Amino acid sequence: MADTITLLIEPLPADADVSRLEATFHEVDETAPALRVGELSTQRGDGIFETIGVVDGHAQETRPHLDRLRNSARICELPEPNLPQWEAAIARAVAALPPTGEFALKLVLSRGVEHGPAPTAWLHATRAADFGAARERGIRVVTLDRGYARGTAERAPWLLMGAKTLSYAVNMAALREAKRRGADDAIFLTSDGYVMEGPTSSVILRHGDVWSTPAPSGAILHGTTQLSLFEHLATTGRDTEYRDIPVHDLLTADAAWLVSSVRLAAGVVELDGSPMPYDAEETRELNAYLLSPRD
Ligand code: PLP
Repeated sequence: MADTITLLIEPLPADADVSRLEATFHEVDETAPALRVGELSTQRGDGIFETIGVVDGHAQETRPHLDRLRNSARICELPEPNLPQWEAAIARAVAALPPTGEFALKLVLSRGVEHGPAPTAWLHATRAADFGAARERGIRVVTLDRGYARGTAERAPWLLMGAKTLSYAVNMAALREAKRRGADDAIFLTSDGYVMEGPTSSVILRHGDVWSTPAPSGAILHGTTQLSLFEHLATTGRDTEYRDIPVHDLLTADAAWLVSSVRLAAGVVELDGSPMPYDAEETRELNAYLLSPRD
């Protein structure tokens, strides 16, 4: 069984009711050319994506990811995705992957090629990197100014801040800056000093018994992993809250994590060069939950 699968998808309108959805996508060789040079996704980053974790043959949180894909499409004024079609493509990909191990399954919906065909879509799944060290021993993090004040998303919706667009060059630059500063990852702050998110993750803090995360305003992505963890924490009797989090609260947290769909929960062991309290056992519990089958 191959460790990777790529499907090219002919995106259906959201309301299309097609009995044989499998006929609307086909497998391609990932090493062969598949996109036109006029693709707006590659030329302008004009498209949206999702990355879903697959654990032992189960695609985690498929529906929340597809709901977010639909929300990103709305923000970017892309045609609304046909969710049953994406579900069928995900099922086909997961069935083709080995039944054990962790994989990253990426969905892309692009504005397509200028003057058509548009939009274009594909799915690409590969074996996930080994995140054992980050999950077990934690990560060093630096805070970085995102350059926008609180409220920017409302004042300037064309910045598409709450959408998961393909334009990740800034996020990748932030990771490079973190590495330059001797860290593994970053937490973006608003220019007026509020916690936002990581370049590819959500931020969760614990102060005493209360777990918090920045309110999912239009300025950050609402993380599926954070949402799922908060449901788990609530059902196991822990207090959770969404709120505006000034940077000071990051410094005084009893624990902090960056959470995302494939790396899962990585505890922060160092913040801007200073040690952060870190509980390996607590982090292990979070990751055991995140590795269990979740819908
Ligand atoms: N915020 C940003 C900017 C991200 O890119 C991601 C994931 O890639 C997340 C948050 C976490 O989202 P999720 O938990 O759905 O992976």
